[in-house]
Amino acid sequence: NTILITGANGFVASWVIDTLLKRGYTVRAAVRTEVKGQYILEQFKSYSETGKIQVVAVGDIAKETAFDDAVKDVDGIIHTASPVHLGSGEPSEIIEPAVNGTLGILKSALKFGVSVKRIIVTSSCAAVKERQETRTNIDETSWNESSIVECEEKGKNAHPLDMYSASKTIAEKRAWEFVAEHASEIKWDFVVITPPWIFGPPLQEVTSVETLNSSNMYWYKAVFEGNFFGANPETDPAHGWIDVRDAAEAHARALEEPTAGGERIIVCAGSPWVWQDFCDIAQGVDPKIHSIGNTFNTAKEHSILGLEYRTMKEMTDDTLAYITKKGW
Ligand code: NDP
Repeated sequence: NTILITGANGFVASWVIDTLLKRGYTVRAAVRTEVKGQYILEQFKSYSETGKIQVVAVGDIAKETAFDDAVKDVDGIIHTASPVHLGSGEPSEIIEPAVNGTLGILKSALKFGVSVKRIIVTSSCAAVKERQETRTNIDETSWNESSIVECEEKGKNAHPLDMYSASKTIAEKRAWEFVAEHASEIKWDFVVITPPWIFGPPLQEVTSVETLNSSNMYWYKAVFEGNFFGANPETDPAHGWIDVRDAAEAHARALEEPTAGGERIIVCAGSPWVWQDFCDIAQGVDPKIHSIGNTFNTAKEHSILGLEYRTMKEMTDDTLAYITKKGW
């Protein structure tokens, strides 16, 4: 059973790979360039030596045919690759690769993925909720329309979070449309996982604080540098969070659980939170209970995936242990 995972050198994908290998799958790890795959082969050496993991270079995912070869002879696909940063000039700089990458893998799978049975796309709660909304009990029927409008109206002056959110929303919407349009030809089923902020100990190659993946970088800056990028750490609620290892487990279960087919599933360990919560936990203080901000409904996740989430404290302790080991 061979699974193609895209964005394989990324934060989330590295843990998905670890989870899949431990479950006995063979993994085809798609990265931008050969060089980016070297660390993966080294890290999962015992598996690479026995052919349980191989690396394929696919180039820029914005190119429509990027995955044409990678999808051949695999049984399942987990598509995590998408730009994750809050520093675009024009919205199109982030929207285009996100959308083309997601549509591209579906197109390639339709043409060349004859043995594919299921495709999982990592979307985001950024595609589910609007940036500033404070609704509670938000479920999978909700879409973040306002970030798209913000980008259309303000262009390069749109809020960076709206640019990222629009990239995730448009990519996911187009994917569902593609699946619906081609329903009669498609032999696989389709699942979307929408996590909120993902934190936790990195498994991917990180050579310095500056090369941390974006979400962990924000966490690090908040906890160690008191930099909350303009947010009030005590009062500005952020939407949910999840430990990266639980997010990875969610992807594996989404691959295996028959009833996940055709579903959009929110996975979320806790919501809402404020940055101060992580600062408190890191300092051994119990965080305050907050009743502000939006919350997500995870009933669908419970009934289909049945995750047991790590706590904020477990996540924080393990991330601090990683940081200590790095000597930062
Ligand atoms: P990372 O930045 O760690 O990984 C992103 C991966 O996508 C990298 O392998 C990167 O390759 C690849 N990628 C991005 N753009 C391109 C491109 N144009 N061509 C080729 N490869 C590309 O991010 P995460 O692991 O944190 O995120 C993974 C997924 O999870 C994303 O879809 C993200 O939107 C989603 N997500 C993440 C959350 C978080 O808090 N981290 C929260 C919710 C969802 P390269 O290294 O070569 O750039």
